[in-house]
Amino acid sequence: MGNPVYLDHNATTTPRPKAVTVMVAALAEAGNPSSVHGAGREARKTIEEARSCVAALVNANPDDVIFTSGGTESNHLAIAGCGRKRVLVSAIEHPSVRNCGGEIVPVDRNGIVDVVELDAMLMADATPALVSVMLANNETGVIEPIDEIAEIARRHNALMHSDAVQAAGKIAVDFKTLGVDKMSLSAHKIGGPAGVGALIANEKARGVLKATAFGGGQERGLRQGTENIAGIAGFGAAAKAALSDLSDHAQIAKMRDRLETAIMKMSPDTIIFGADADRLPNTACFTMPGSDSDTQVMALDLAGIAVSAGSACASGKVKASGVLHAMGIDDDQAKSALRVSFGWDSKDGDVDAFLNAWGDLYERIHKDGKIAQPAA
Ligand code: PLP
Repeated sequence: MGNPVYLDHNATTTPRPKAVTVMVAALAEAGNPSSVHGAGREARKTIEEARSCVAALVNANPDDVIFTSGGTESNHLAIAGCGRKRVLVSAIEHPSVRNCGGEIVPVDRNGIVDVVELDAMLMADATPALVSVMLANNETGVIEPIDEIAEIARRHNALMHSDAVQAAGKIAVDFKTLGVDKMSLSAHKIGGPAGVGALIANEKARGVLKATAFGGGQERGLRQGTENIAGIAGFGAAAKAALSDLSDHAQIAKMRDRLETAIMKMSPDTIIFGADADRLPNTACFTMPGSDSDTQVMALDLAGIAVSAGSACASGKVKASGVLHAMGIDDDQAKSALRVSFGWDSKDGDVDAFLNAWGDLYERIHKDGKIAQPAA
């Protein structure tokens, strides 16, 4: 059974009703988009409409959109297929980027990339490079100065990729003015289905991009295999809804700020990570001194509230987050970090429910020095 209060939208967000409707309709239809007959042409139309919606979400050209199986594959294609010998990635990237290898660019205590160091690293070696820095971090919500980073990359003739999986649909994202060559997106972070995403790549990046799997030449040979038509249709509908609801994030930011203010009042020793930086409006990541994050997640789950300890993509593992470690946060603090992330259907009452449950837990810990363990 799910939780009545779901505050883990950075892990995956509630499907948008329109996305569900179009997916169900698409699932009921036969038709391969590569076929020339009417059924095939209908499937192709579904895909091309979705491509335009996804492009519009980030102000890209529809031609720039390469559909993939999600953010993970988009990141892999952007890096493994980049056609460059040297890769530099920030220290706070999602594992789907970090595990592609590459030299690590350090970040400061807020998780912001050290641009002076990046410049020096690129200056020290003229090998054609790709720089990959995420637009917003999945654990802290901290937003990177991508336009400045892209400008440095450009100065050194490096290609620039940004993982915008968490940023898209939460803040205005403009592929063209950010100055990046490639950008990763994922449908299930914006109210579409899991298992579909896109790599946005401009003409220059597409010119050197190499497919990492081979097949029937789909997506102009860059991501081959019969398209996930229903998933892509859902992605398009979610992108359209996310773009039209973008201004709702002002209200979401108010909920997040109310939650953080109340937490600090209850627990003045709490640390809010990235609090001094620009952050996504929906994300809060903070400590509860004296309690491991896994204990908090379990206790809150028992109270009907779904939140995450650090990155949900690494959930199940109870170790200090690599992101917080890279930010220079000490292990004890990192191990007590909790991530609360709001979504398009979050309500003020969710904040109250969270504060009641978190406050109860805090009092139990700080009065009795122990926490009631969840039933086995
Ligand atoms: N990049 C970031 C920043 C993410 O937060 C995630 C998922 O949490 C991914 C990439 C992977 O996306 P997907 O789940 O679509 O593979």
